[in-house]
Amino acid sequence: MAETIKNFINGKWVDAKSGDTFETRMPAKWNEVLAVVAKSDKEDVDEAVKAAKKAFKKWKKVPVAKRGELLGKVGDIMVERKEELAQLMAKEMGKIISESRGDVQEGIDTAYYAFGEGRRFFGKTSPSELPNKINMTFLRPIGVAGMICPWNFPVAIPTWKMFPALLSGNTLVIKPASDTPLMVAKLFDIMIEAGIPDGVINLVNGPGSAVGNAILENPDIGVISFTGSSEVGKHIASVAGQSLKKVSLELGGKNAQIVMDDADIDLAVDGALFGAFGTAGQRCTATSRIIIHEAVHDEFVEKLKNRAEKMKIGMPWNEDTDLGPVINESALKKIHSYTEIGKKEGATLITGGEQYKEGECAGGWFYRPTIFTNVKPFSRLEQEEIFGPVLSIIKVKSFDEAIEVINDVQYGLSSCIYTKNINNAMHAVEDIDSGITYINGPTIGAECHMPFGGVKSTGNGHREGGWTVYEIYTEQKTVYIDYSGKLQKAQIDTSIEK
Ligand code: NAD
Repeated sequence: MAETIKNFINGKWVDAKSGDTFETRMPAKWNEVLAVVAKSDKEDVDEAVKAAKKAFKKWKKVPVAKRGELLGKVGDIMVERKEELAQLMAKEMGKIISESRGDVQEGIDTAYYAFGEGRRFFGKTSPSELPNKINMTFLRPIGVAGMICPWNFPVAIPTWKMFPALLSGNTLVIKPASDTPLMVAKLFDIMIEAGIPDGVINLVNGPGSAVGNAILENPDIGVISFTGSSEVGKHIASVAGQSLKKVSLELGGKNAQIVMDDADIDLAVDGALFGAFGTAGQRCTATSRIIIHEAVHDEFVEKLKNRAEKMKIGMPWNEDTDLGPVINESALKKIHSYTEIGKKEGATLITGGEQYKEGECAGGWFYRPTIFTNVKPFSRLEQEEIFGPVLSIIKVKSFDEAIEVINDVQYGLSSCIYTKNINNAMHAVEDIDSGITYINGPTIGAECHMPFGGVKSTGNGHREGGWTVYEIYTEQKTVYIDYSGKLQKAQIDTSIEK
């Protein structure tokens, strides 16, 4: 029986004003409708923003420690409902169950981090350059935050955005990806149960072109947080720039793992399998390229191919499944088009390269783990984000060449190097153009208390996660207190009293 998902505006679950709906289906069983969802447009967004703007006046006055306590309660309820949320995610998004549990856990961790932050929402103090005067800063909320989400972390990413925004004193309007509205609706149930007041959180479902654009264009939204493709990110930046909104963009990746000749090869194979085929390659941090020293190339490739071919492809909710489906048919077609591109470019397909249709998988969007060797730098296979279980292997002769290749793409999100040589490891940390570098670990697996984001076309310099995400949702207020009882002039009264 399909669930009905409405919008949540001003404390009430409501239909789209147009009355329109759309359906979502399971990536693993496409003939099953999972939810019927409100298909909204500008009118719904404008009403949600109006409610959020009104609620902001009261919400910003709630002491930050109290806002933190509410988010702590949200975390507690998420803990109770973790398994239920994870099972639903496996159905809605197709993420295998162990990773779905991890996705929910990331949301729980983010709630508890925000809870703690409620007791340490510090500004700074500084002595003045003048006598009998003190300077300090306070963090202030911005107002209404607009949030536009992708489908690949249906709990973690919305919580990365909503919880810090709320803790900071903002109200919000969020648009989930059209493929995964159910998980955000469940998060709303939890936040409502925890006692977040009416109007503070607003959910508007619908297509990016209508709902997303209405969020960008609404003059009462002060900050936009977007996670998605670089292509849409550029559009977001240009539209939001017209009204000088603050914009945080977390965009695409073409992440790579370097494997040096002194690496622990079995460990590097473990990392590559998890990095490339975890979440069916649909993580922004997925390992899409292996850049490997020629001395260990053949051994690594043989081991990796054997392991990839043994991966169990199946229903994502089964505990023994290693690889679930990709999100939908158009994603599957895009992924397969890169197999064709790779072949045309002269790369060698050593395994996979086709849809997997055995048994019950015939009813979903499954793609075999795919590995290409002999991939050339600057080929499309090596340069473009595929967002599926497709891995390119590039052979190099030296560490310096590996660094050249890893940096030759437009993206710069995550990276890693497998080596036992501390000098190589530290040079990699210094020289790889990316926001994240792992040493002897795969490119995936962010921890919520650390800054997360990338360089180059992966973003615009903001960092979600950790303490840095609070910079996105706050403004600094600088305060000068002069207790000298006379007019003092900064930069002008420069003499020291004798
Ligand atoms: P997408 O860019 O297609 O869509 C993201 C969101 O933007 C969706 O909610 C969509 O409806 C909305 N949207 C689409 N067109 C819009 C428009 N014109 N105006 C406003 N909103 C619009 O991305 P996706 O397919 O959902 O997600 C995959 C992409 O997200 C990949 O490129 C991946 O690398 C990236 N991603 C990045 C991170 C990160 O933190 N850097 C994390 C996860 C995913």
